[in-house]
Amino acid sequence: MATAPTESFTTVTPTGGRALNYAVRKPVGVVAVVVPWNLPLLLLTWKVAPALACGNAVVVKPSEETPASATLLAEVMAAAGVPDGVFNLVHGFGPGSAGEFLTRHPGVDAITFTGESATGSAIMRAAADGVKAVSFELGGKNAGLVFADADLDAAVAGSVRSSFTNGGQVCLCTERIYVQRPVFEEFTARLAKRADELAYGWPADEATANMPLISAGHRAKVLGHYDLARTEGAEVRAGGGVPRFGDARDGGSYVQPTVLAGLGPDARTNREEIFGPVVHVAPFDDEDEAYALANGTEYGLAATVWTRDVGRAHRAGVRLDAGIVWVNTWFLRDLRTPFGGVKASGIGREGGVHSLDFYSELTNVCVDLS
Ligand code: NAD
Repeated sequence: MATAPTESFTTVTPTGGRALNYAVRKPVGVVAVVVPWNLPLLLLTWKVAPALACGNAVVVKPSEETPASATLLAEVMAAAGVPDGVFNLVHGFGPGSAGEFLTRHPGVDAITFTGESATGSAIMRAAADGVKAVSFELGGKNAGLVFADADLDAAVAGSVRSSFTNGGQVCLCTERIYVQRPVFEEFTARLAKRADELAYGWPADEATANMPLISAGHRAKVLGHYDLARTEGAEVRAGGGVPRFGDARDGGSYVQPTVLAGLGPDARTNREEIFGPVVHVAPFDDEDEAYALANGTEYGLAATVWTRDVGRAHRAGVRLDAGIVWVNTWFLRDLRTPFGGVKASGIGREGGVHSLDFYSELTNVCVDLS
C-alpha cells in the first residue's frame, strides 16, 4: 500500500523552535485469518478485504468443517490476478494442526480470529510468544429485551429470526429473551407457536426455515443442552427434541427449534452458549432488572431491544454490556459500523475505518524545523 500520511501539525520544541509531526499508516505485514464454520465465506471476507486493502498479505485457515468456500475464493483471487503470495490458504484442524502452527508461526505479524471464546484464549497464549496483535470475534449468549410498550407483532417476528436463523448457528443469535411481565405470557405463547410452525424442508430449498445443524457432533452438543435444561427444571414450551420425517432427512442433523422457560439466571442453560435453535424466556418487572439480567453472563456480543420509548432505546445502548445493540430489529448491519464484542465476546472492532486500526500500523514522523 502507498503509505498514507495522516493529519500533520506543528509543535513547539524545548528550545522554542517548531517541529512538524505527521504519522504514516503502513501495512502490518502477514496477517493470519482463522475462521469458524458458521457463515464461513461472509466472516472470512470481513477480514480479508480490509487486510488486503491496507496492503497486507493474508494466510487464511478456514474451519475443517467448511473448507470449500474459502478454496473457491482462492481460485477467484488467482483468476482475478491477485499477485502470488498475497492471498494464501492452508487447510487443517486447530490444536496441534494448521490453526495452531499458523498462529505460532514467527512469520505471522498479527492474528484475526473468529470462533469460540476458549479457542480465543488458546490463540492469545500462542500469540504472546511473538507479541502479535490479536483481533477476536468470539462467542455470545445474547439477550433480547421485550418491553410492554413494544410492537408485539414485530417483537415476536424479530425474535423468531434472531433465535432460529441458520439453526441458531450465528454468533449474534438470541439465546435469552427477557419479557416485561404484562406481556410475558402472550409473547411466550406466540413465540412457541411460531417455533412449532417453522417449516422443515430439504437443505437446498429456500423455503426451509429449519435446516440441519453443521454436524452430528454439534447436534449431540445441542441435544445435550436440551437434556441439561430439563435436568435444571426448565419448562419446554416448544420443541425440545428431534423431528422425525420418515425419509432421508432422518439421517441429517436436525433438531427442533426450542423455547424454554422457568429457569433462573444462574442456570447453565442461561449462561453457556448453546449455538442451536433454542431460546429461554423469562419475565422482568422494570428496566433496571432487565439490564441486570441481560448483563449477567461472561459474554457481551449483541443485544436486541424491543420498545417504542425512544429514551429507553438510547439508554439501552449505554446500559447494556454488548458491542452491538439493535433496537426494534436484529442483524441489520452496515459494513462501515463497528462490529465486535465486549467481555469474553471479543477484542477490537471490525468494519469500515475501525478495521484500519488493526490492519495497519502508524509511524509518527517528527521533523525539527529550526
Ligand atoms: P472454533 O473456535 O472451534 O474454531 C474456529 C476456528 O479456529 C477453526 O478454523 C478451527 O480449526 C480453529 N482452531 C481451533 N482451535 C485452534 C487453536 N488452538 N489454534 C488455532 N486455531 C484453532 O469455533 P467454531 O465451532 O468453528 O465456531 C463457532 C463459534 O464461533 C461459536 O462460539 C460462535 O459464537 C463463534 N462465532 C463468533 C462470531 C463473532 O463475530 N463474534 C461469529 C461467528 C462465530
